[in-house]
Amino acid sequence: MEKQGNIQIASENMMPIIKKWLYSDKDIFLREIVANASDAITKLKKLETLGEAPKGDGYKITITTDTKAKTLTVEDNGIGMTQDEVERYITQIAFSGAADFVAKYEKTNGDGIIGHFGLGFYSAYMVSENIEIFTKSYRDGEQAVHWVSDGNSTYTIGDTDKKTRGTKIVMHLAPEEKEFTDEKAVKKLLLKYCSFMPYPIFLNPKEGEKDPKPVNTTEPLYLKQPADCTEEEYQNFYRDTFRDFNPPLFWIHLNMEYPFRLKGILYFPKIKKNVDLEPGQVKLYCEQVFVANNIKEVIPEFLMLLNGVIDCPEIPLNVSRSFLQNDAKVQKISRYITKKVSDKLSELYNNDREKYENCWQDLSTFVKYGCLKDDDFYEKVKNIIIFKNIEGKYQPLISCFGESITEEEAKKGVEPKAVYYASDENKQAQYIAMFREAGLDAIVCDEYIDPHFISYIEYQNPTCVRFLRIDADVDAALKAEGENGEDKELETLFTDCLKNKKVRVKTEKLKNANVPAIVNVPEFLRRMTEMNSFYRMGDDMHDVTLIVNTSNAAVNLLKTAEEGERLRAVEQIYYLALMSYKPLEPEELQTFTANTSILLEKYLQK
Ligand code: ADP
Repeated sequence: MEKQGNIQIASENMMPIIKKWLYSDKDIFLREIVANASDAITKLKKLETLGEAPKGDGYKITITTDTKAKTLTVEDNGIGMTQDEVERYITQIAFSGAADFVAKYEKTNGDGIIGHFGLGFYSAYMVSENIEIFTKSYRDGEQAVHWVSDGNSTYTIGDTDKKTRGTKIVMHLAPEEKEFTDEKAVKKLLLKYCSFMPYPIFLNPKEGEKDPKPVNTTEPLYLKQPADCTEEEYQNFYRDTFRDFNPPLFWIHLNMEYPFRLKGILYFPKIKKNVDLEPGQVKLYCEQVFVANNIKEVIPEFLMLLNGVIDCPEIPLNVSRSFLQNDAKVQKISRYITKKVSDKLSELYNNDREKYENCWQDLSTFVKYGCLKDDDFYEKVKNIIIFKNIEGKYQPLISCFGESITEEEAKKGVEPKAVYYASDENKQAQYIAMFREAGLDAIVCDEYIDPHFISYIEYQNPTCVRFLRIDADVDAALKAEGENGEDKELETLFTDCLKNKKVRVKTEKLKNANVPAIVNVPEFLRRMTEMNSFYRMGDDMHDVTLIVNTSNAAVNLLKTAEEGERLRAVEQIYYLALMSYKPLEPEELQTFTANTSILLEKYLQK
């Protein structure tokens, strides 16, 4: 017997709103329908354990595509529904659920309803002209039911001859949605949304096939106890989930029951040095159903460089983003994850320093970025941040800090300890060599993020450290001790010869007698210039000082040199010094080459 009914809500104007809202990821309808199928099996299993339904097995979800009939069918052998239940759950609840959604959507004006949960069954109308349900309840002797509706205001319900327990949803696709009859396309969606669902999902299984393979993994690794997982399993899970064939550096298995439930695995991928940071992928699940990638309210933003899966049944998913931002539990979860990450790093640092140092290349960008983004994280990891020195040895950054200076000392002009750093070991090779010879140390800060990071460290520790680039203030560090190397005559001589260049001259007796002169640019000005060029405001404000080395023999010979030769030699010394600071401009290089040629000629003639 068939009967017609009216759907009790004004549904005509719902679809345009829902479609517009979900347009970019309307494929979530498949997740909703498959998740309903999965829930139907879970409900039946619960009844089994309560003794209210006979023990069963072979639970599965079967999905079939039919290009000719233009249908996509999802079938489960779960709890099923009686006619009464179909009217209640589908006609009333599912449809009113959609109506609620629309009301909420209109109120929040599209404030990102995460995962679009709660739209459920009705979302299938985004792609279907018509939907049929064939269902048979687990209860003994219940008549199987057939329901059909185009999603607008009427439906038809009646008997059918379905023999097996469970529900079959047949979606008659709209003409423009026929991609959903393409097996490959459907498989892709299943892999995205249903990879970890708890019952096997079979897509177009062939009749008589002995061992059909489900598209999903019903027991994803993250659900296991960490103690029961092997290294190989972690590696395989990473490769299969993220399609990344580079093995991860290491991972953190999250397993929390109290005060909230959360399971997952976070992997540290290899991060390429000095390239724009590639975002990772942290996939959020709710009871093994995929919700969304990179939800920054739940996972601290800097952790987005990691790859991982997080399954948290406690996050209310059918709520808006602004709710998540203000939800205390969500904030706790985020803090918990941050703490787990810093704990793992500290553990590695303390227990396996060698591995930590070997991973540091890949880790450091992430750790530094984390500090810049999150002061709490910095507090947790500040003791385990390491830097290479110019001898290639790692040392903790804090070991370079000096004693904190007092306020009074600061007023008297005492400065916090200077830590020298090289930002480019090749370009600054001359300075590094001089540092080495003088027995001085410097750290290497050559990463993309380092300029920001050292400013951050200064800001966090204003009384015990300041950073000076190795070419910023070399005279102080490299002066031959105890001697006043000033030579007014040479200073005037150089100043006269270089009066057309933008440079100031100072004389100094340096420890290393082989270098005629070096260039210094004050740290502060250089940083300003770098900022300016970063913001594309031109970079022509270098305040260059030429430090002429009075312990150099050639420099001293200049005093007695013939005037033309003197001019050429001074120019040459200036370019030599400039070269170890930055590449010469084309005209400078031309002059330098011509001068060198003349000098060689004279040298060889003698
Ligand atoms: P939700 O799943 O959020 O409750 P839906 O609109 O997806 O909302 O579904 C409404 C109800 O219809 C479900 O709560 C369930 O009782 C019933 N239902 C949907 N699909 C199935 C199914 N495959 N088997 C049994 N019952 C189902």
